[in-house]
Amino acid sequence: MPNSDLIDTVRGWIDAAQRVVVLTGAGISTDSGIPDFRGPQGLWTRNPAAEKQSTIQNYLADPQVRIAAWRNRVDHWAWSAQPNDGHLALAALERRGKLHALITQNVDELHQIAGNSRQKVIEVHGTIRRVMCWQCGERTPMQEALARVRAGEADPPCLRCGGILKSDTISFGQALVPEVIERAMNAAIEADLLLAVGTTLRVYPVAGAVPLARQAGARIVIVNAEPTELDHLADALMQGSISEILPAICGG
Ligand SMILES: [Zn+2]
Repeated sequence: MPNSDLIDTVRGWIDAAQRVVVLTGAGISTDSGIPDFRGPQGLWTRNPAAEKQSTIQNYLADPQVRIAAWRNRVDHWAWSAQPNDGHLALAALERRGKLHALITQNVDELHQIAGNSRQKVIEVHGTIRRVMCWQCGERTPMQEALARVRAGEADPPCLRCGGILKSDTISFGQALVPEVIERAMNAAIEADLLLAVGTTLRVYPVAGAVPLARQAGARIVIVNAEPTELDHLADALMQGSISEILPAICGG
C-alpha cells in the first residue's frame, strides 16, 4: 500500500476533478479470479500455443478450433466472477458524478456488473458476454449460444444467416474498431485527471490515451501492481493492491 500522504494527495486531486477518465486493464480483474493472460503467470505466457490457437484466422479456418473454443466458453471463468472492491470504487466514482469515461481493455463486463453505466464504459476489446456473426454482423447474448452448445451443437452457426459465430471480442489478428478507439482517445483528451489501473501500458493505441491526456493538461495517476511503460508520465505512481488502493482514493 502506498504511504498515506500519497493517498491523501491523490484523493484530493480526485475530489477536485470533474472529468476523470479511467483506463483499466487485466490487473483490476485478477482479484476477481480472472487470469491475466499476459502477466508473469498468464496463460499465454506459460503456454504460447494457446495464444496462437486464439487467432481469428485459425478460428475461422478450422472447425476444430471453434469446437474447442465453444467448449471453453461453456465453462468460462467469467461466468462466476464477481466485481471486487476495485470495480466497486469506480462505480462509486460515477455515482459521485466524477466519471467522464471508463476505457477498458477487459472483456468481462465486471465494470457494468459493479454498477458503471453502459454509456460510460468504452470496451476497446469488446465483450465476451455477447456473440457476433462473422458474416452478417448480428450480435446476440452469449448465454443463448451457450445454451445451444449445452444442447449438443458443437459449433452453433448464426440463426439468421448460418455464418460463423464468435465471442464479440477482438481476437489476435483481428482489427480494433476505429470508432471505439476514436471515442476512447477523445475522452482522454477531455479528461482533467486520467487514472490508469491494472495495465502495463504497453499495448497501443490504447496506451496512447495517457500521453494524449497529459498533453491536454490532465493529471496522470497510475495504479498497478508492477511498473508500467509510462511511469515517467505519472504525477502519482501507486504500486500495490488495486482492490485496496482504489477504494482509498476514489471516495464515496
Ligand atoms: Zn449471421
